[in-house]
Amino acid sequence: MQGVHRIEVALGDITRHAADAIVNAANSSLLGGGGVDGAIHRAGGPSILEECRRLGGCATGDAKATGAGDLPARHVIHTVGPVWQGGDAGEEELLASCHRRSVELAAELGCRTVAFPAISTGVYGFPVELAAPIALRTTAEGLARHEAIERATFVLFSEGHLRVFEHALAGLRG
Ligand code: ADP
Repeated sequence: MQGVHRIEVALGDITRHAADAIVNAANSSLLGGGGVDGAIHRAGGPSILEECRRLGGCATGDAKATGAGDLPARHVIHTVGPVWQGGDAGEEELLASCHRRSVELAAELGCRTVAFPAISTGVYGFPVELAAPIALRTTAEGLARHEAIERATFVLFSEGHLRVFEHALAGLRG
């Protein structure tokens, strides 16, 4: 798969990651939440929330961008992952859409590097073993369409998630 060699996985805190854009696993209000969303707003300062207020929310599977306040990134791409409901409610397609839209937006913003958390795998309950291959495959497809993006990094917050993403990435590389 063409874009897959521009994907890497790493252990860390995405708020410390100096990509042109970092992706936030937001909720549809875009008005802040827990998990990675709370961490991004805490570390980035109030300007991100100010901008989010003017965006009028975001549909599940879609993405919207703001500046990155005090973060080392230039942009935050807020995307809304699906809540896991057992797998028959379109969750896989919605998770894919989050990655597709985020890559598209990163390309529109002129980003060369973009970093993702493991969207929906926290409070939203999407099993990481199912989420990782969808996230990686859809991102690789997006990178293949947007040659200007040089690298996408999945920044995983636990060793367990890192191992699952590493395994899925190795599977895609074949
Ligand atoms: P969701 O509601 O989409 O599930 P969460 O924020 O609850 O969003 O979790 C998404 C993923 O982000 C989880 O795997 C969680 O461990 C991870 N996460 C939480 N904080 C950070 C952080 N600072 N950097 C990177 N990943 C994080």
